[in-house]
Amino acid sequence: MSRLYNFSAGPAMLPEAVLQRAQQEFMDWHGSGMNVMEMSHRGKEFLSIANQAEADLREVMAIPDNYKVLFLQGGASSQFAAIPMNLLRGKKTADYFNTGQWSKKAISEAKRYCDVNIVASSEDDGFNSVPDKSTWTLNPDAAYVHYTANETIGGVEFDDIPDVGDVPLVVDLSSTILSRPIDVSKFALIYGGAQKNIGPAGLAIVIVRDDLIGDTIEGTPTMFNYKVQADNDSMYNTPPTYALYIAGLVFQWLKELGGLTNMAKINQRKAEKLYAAIDHSDGFYTNPVNPKYRSWMNVTFTLGNADLDADFLAQAKQAGLVTLKGHRSVGGMRASIYNAMPEEGVDALITFMQDFAAKNQ
Ligand SMILES: *Cc1c(COP(=O)(O)O)cnc(C)c1O
Repeated sequence: MSRLYNFSAGPAMLPEAVLQRAQQEFMDWHGSGMNVMEMSHRGKEFLSIANQAEADLREVMAIPDNYKVLFLQGGASSQFAAIPMNLLRGKKTADYFNTGQWSKKAISEAKRYCDVNIVASSEDDGFNSVPDKSTWTLNPDAAYVHYTANETIGGVEFDDIPDVGDVPLVVDLSSTILSRPIDVSKFALIYGGAQKNIGPAGLAIVIVRDDLIGDTIEGTPTMFNYKVQADNDSMYNTPPTYALYIAGLVFQWLKELGGLTNMAKINQRKAEKLYAAIDHSDGFYTNPVNPKYRSWMNVTFTLGNADLDADFLAQAKQAGLVTLKGHRSVGGMRASIYNAMPEEGVDALITFMQDFAAKNQ
């Protein structure tokens, strides 16, 4: 068996230890005589898995007691609609930062339910930065402020939690959740799809302050109603049981590794060495993002000579380094280096990039 270093932006690599554990438990979970996929979601075995997953996530992220943790379906994209449905609470407008492709999708969905005020946009700058605070036009009457902490496609991230005063703050944390500690108490709502840094696709996580839920707009589907989901422990219907089980194993893996403080050190080191390799390649590779806002998770780069792109990808694949092609909307290359990408994978990529540059100067 040989596993590749898979730089996919999502679904992405899972920790090998988690896959091995799932394999050991595949035919017979803890003497139950069943695979987790075969269990009733209301049986005591699965309830213990779900409760443990929630407890471990609460511990790993230090989630305060006045926040609900919801395990939902429909990906982060469903939350683009569910957020205005649940958080407008009688208001007619919401604030959105526009820092890339995922911001744009969140904005266009929100516009179906409310007026959207764009606080600031980096579109004119090719989404290579986060707009300077002096340019922000926050609306104090907005129902909430939404931002995308890490733009997975552009490889741009906020360097800090934006200070938006008293207006509830909502963050799409899909591609950076669990990559480092974050102060949950600063947020009204945190959400993300699982397939980047948590577990299998099919699961989305919403962490929401409990006093904000219960007042949905008319016509909100029951499945999108956070209060209903919270009151039913995310089991209003059948939850994505296997995805939740694997996510739970990932939370345990993070705890064993020393939690998010340690993960942050590893992630920062991985990202810094890869950006350094790009910056020190004499223009063979370039990254266009303002260094202050470079993503730790999605490292984009282009080759000075785009005619070499196909060779680069083919030879990388031969070296066991796959899915490095940039998003179809931006081209170039993208190395997604989430928690589960071992540091050795980043080292192997850097060595490959240096060799490829030396051969093709
Ligand atoms: C991947 C991604 C999404 C969309 O997630 P789905 O689960 O496919 O709906 C939204 N926002 C960000 C920042 C992402 O990286």
